[in-house]
Amino acid sequence: VLFIDLDDFKKVNDTMGHSTGDDLLREVAARLRGCVRKSDTVARLGGDEFTIVLLDLKAPELIARVAEKVIASLQKPFTVEGRDFYLGASVGIAIYPDDGEDAELLVRNADTAMYEIKKTSKNGYCFYTGDMSARAIARMELEDDLRKGIAGEQFEVHYQPCVDVYSGRVVSAEALVRWRHPERGLIMPDQFIGLAEETGLIVELGQWVLNAACRQTRAWQNAGYEPISVAVNLSMLQFEQGDLVEMIMEALVSSNLHSRWLELELTEGVLLKNADNAKEVLDQLRMLGIRIAIDDFGTGYSSLIQLKQLPIDCLKIDREFIDGILDDNDDATVVEAIVALGRKLNLTLVAEGVEEPEQLELLRSLGCQRCQGYLFGSPCSAEHFSRFLTPSHLPDLEENEEALSEQLPSPAGTLGDHALITARRIL
Ligand code: C2E
Ligand code: MG
Ligand code: MG
Repeated sequence: VLFIDLDDFKKVNDTMGHSTGDDLLREVAARLRGCVRKSDTVARLGGDEFTIVLLDLKAPELIARVAEKVIASLQKPFTVEGRDFYLGASVGIAIYPDDGEDAELLVRNADTAMYEIKKTSKNGYCFYTGDMSARAIARMELEDDLRKGIAGEQFEVHYQPCVDVYSGRVVSAEALVRWRHPERGLIMPDQFIGLAEETGLIVELGQWVLNAACRQTRAWQNAGYEPISVAVNLSMLQFEQGDLVEMIMEALVSSNLHSRWLELELTEGVLLKNADNAKEVLDQLRMLGIRIAIDDFGTGYSSLIQLKQLPIDCLKIDREFIDGILDDNDDATVVEAIVALGRKLNLTLVAEGVEEPEQLELLRSLGCQRCQGYLFGSPCSAEHFSRFLTPSHLPDLEENEEALSEQLPSPAGTLGDHALITARRIL
């Protein structure tokens, strides 16, 4: 049994309408029929999922050949209503009787194998193996947990300071989600954001984070601290939701936070994948007064020229480059070039993952205006974060260094003495 799932079909359906989607599915079916013998069966299970049943195979290698044929045939462009569309397919394979003795199990295991390929590369095929089931079960359990976690509000938002290297002030906080799992303790986003994206749960979770971050930022203002911005990460799926702008407006209104204090972080991939509608959405957000940052800049494939077409305010240079900036010439050159170009384009530059005072000095001399990283503070709870905030009526900082150091409680977590001294000097 071959389980075939089309890559990127949803996008066509969403953007071109269902009747175009239907035409496309008919064309897919025709091409699939062209890949097999008359005696084989091609079926559409639903949505963009098809199956093929191959009978009486002399050798399992032949299955791979059919899978390759299927993938190649679906890779060719589809012309519908005068427009070309590019799809692709992920194919999972289960073989009777080893991978299942009845139809239901065979289809399910082929589906599991399909999922393996989808998860890693798309546009390829994969034979089912036993340990996939174990992984599939673990994933299902995690998904179930995640659903319960969202319903039960098991998530919290931590905040990491971002510092203006010239004024020495904390100018914004990045909101980073954590999962307070009842049995497994605190879980970091790299353990669950991917799954939340695959299952669509990121939309709900992301909305929750946005609301919490806006409320918290407003609460700091209400408590008499000088206002800072909050930066919220948006995932691809959220960006593709038709009601993103309304959702964001609602979060601002219900928290009573002025839009100038909200910054949204998107990756290059999100913007390039949705190039057509990205500009429209970003223009609307910009009109509301919200700032847009490109996160992890330098790791994607975009050029600044492409991004220049979009209303972007800020580039966050990926940690990977900052890591090597002191001892890897290439990294230093890349950062220098990004800073120089970014500044020419009037963008604010933020270096991510700054851990050493020497990195800070170098970045400052290159003209990078903002830094974020363990040197200043790792992400911490909202309560702890208030140590980075300035009360609105603070006496003059220069003259009151002693008073200031008394006001700064000993930071918890990973902020070492050395870093603390530098951070205080900057503050
Ligand atoms: P990101 O947006 O690039 O966030 C920065 C990550 O770098 C954070 O990891 C932060 O803890 C880490 N970091 C900051 N400074 C340093 C440093 O000096 N050294 C090192 N080694 N690491 C540093 P975290 O919190 O684990 O988040 C990982 C990623 O998860 C984020 O990367 C972001 O892509 C995603 N994420 C987190 N919260 C959300 C959310 O609410 N929504 C969405 N869609 N994604 C989120
Ligand atoms: Mg980020
Ligand atoms: Mg980042």
